[in-house]
Amino acid sequence: MKVIEQTISQITLPTPFAVGDVHVYMLAGDTLSIVDAGVKTKEAWEALTTQLKELGYRPNDIEQIFITHHHPDHIGLTEQFPKAKHIAAHPNVDRWLTRDQQYLAHYMHFFEQYFIESGIPKVFYHALDQLEATMDFAGKGEVTIPLVEGDTLPGHPDWKVVETKGHAQSHLSFLRVHDHLLIGGDHILQHISSNPIMEPPEIGKTIEYRPQPMLQYRKNLQKCIDIGVKKVLPGHGEIVEHPQHLIFSRLAKQEERADYVYDILQQSRCALTPYEICTKLFPKQFKKQIDLTMSETIGQLDYLESLERVRKRKEDGKIVYEASIIDK
Ligand SMILES: [Zn+2]
Repeated sequence: MKVIEQTISQITLPTPFAVGDVHVYMLAGDTLSIVDAGVKTKEAWEALTTQLKELGYRPNDIEQIFITHHHPDHIGLTEQFPKAKHIAAHPNVDRWLTRDQQYLAHYMHFFEQYFIESGIPKVFYHALDQLEATMDFAGKGEVTIPLVEGDTLPGHPDWKVVETKGHAQSHLSFLRVHDHLLIGGDHILQHISSNPIMEPPEIGKTIEYRPQPMLQYRKNLQKCIDIGVKKVLPGHGEIVEHPQHLIFSRLAKQEERADYVYDILQQSRCALTPYEICTKLFPKQFKKQIDLTMSETIGQLDYLESLERVRKRKEDGKIVYEASIIDK
């Protein structure tokens, strides 16, 4: 636990995930609010109550919950605050908190199609089962205050909502207007490069309309530069003291990796599926983390496609990419 200033404290909770600990933040204002809710485990709950006590609070004192995004390490303990009247979050968090069956079926259907189209071999399809396993760590509830870009945080008039999609289609950050301090969820992390993660398009839309999380992520990193974010309280790891510097280095690294993907395609004699590119880009990691490595690969391809450096087409039900000749 870290008292950041009189009205903001950082509480650190364990998770069973590779990412390690997650931070939640207590905001004292006209109301007492918590930003994010850790993961649903006994260990996280014990850590939370202990640290709340050190701050002089009990779970019953918390009046509302703000959520940065829908991942299980950020929505785990939503049911544990009986006096919290509201969950305020991006509207896309709601389908996860309510376990919207229609949406979850759409999600699974999209990923089956996406795996097939990307040329991923059947042995990896078990990765699709992970969804249900990780959902056990997520809390339930409903979004009672939907938040969108520019909204003021209820009970905290100095804080505004900044939409930061990319890592998740529900991702929001919260900006304190007077000094540009940002509660950034997983948008900007110091030691871990935050991944753009693939998600389905809205219900009713086909796979061609899927989001392009890398392009969103880049745009929303740039947005943080443009609005002059000065310091970031992150969901994981150390407080980011020089976000502008970090953002520029993240963007540059991503561009380097895209160049590498471009080189792979230029040196290949035939067009390649996203899976084939993934195995060359992440030869050590792809077997263990097919979902994340594929999201990253597709992200680089979307980026290269946006610059017209690669072209894609469909071949035997699979998407294949080749380098455009314009760079030669
Ligand atoms: Zn996280």
